[in-house]
Amino acid sequence: MASHQSHSDGSSSRTRSLSFAQAPLVKCFHEEEAPLRVVRFNGPTVGKRFYGCAHWPRTCGFFKWAEEVDEIVELQQKMFEKDVTIAELQMENDMLKRTNERLEDDLADLAIENTETKEIIGSARADRKWVAFLVFSWVFFSFILLLNKQ
Ligand SMILES: [Zn+2]
Repeated sequence: MASHQSHSDGSSSRTRSLSFAQAPLVKCFHEEEAPLRVVRFNGPTVGKRFYGCAHWPRTCGFFKWAEEVDEIVELQQKMFEKDVTIAELQMENDMLKRTNERLEDDLADLAIENTETKEIIGSARADRKWVAFLVFSWVFFSFILLLNKQ
């Protein structure tokens, strides 16, 4: 009977404020709102809350204990909270995906910059090699000239 109390597993208290309206809308077989009533007959069920047909005593025969409805509402609320949690996780996932894409773009930009820097360094090295070759060839040429003069 009180077993539904132990169901509360402390699942995400931050979504609790998004739960639905406290008073559940219960409809009878007339598709009309069934009012919440209390058993007034002296007996084992006295004081128990129930939903009945609005057209009592010309009732459609609808009857439901309020605690049964409460349990259903509690389950619906839990399912709703789960939906909210899933939606939140999906949003978080999308955000992470976008961040990842942005990081990949940044990384690609850095790679391009890196190759550009490498090319600049590479051409500077080639220039130095070229200068060294020119100096060497001039020295060699002068040496040949000196040898020929003797
Ligand atoms: Zn009814």
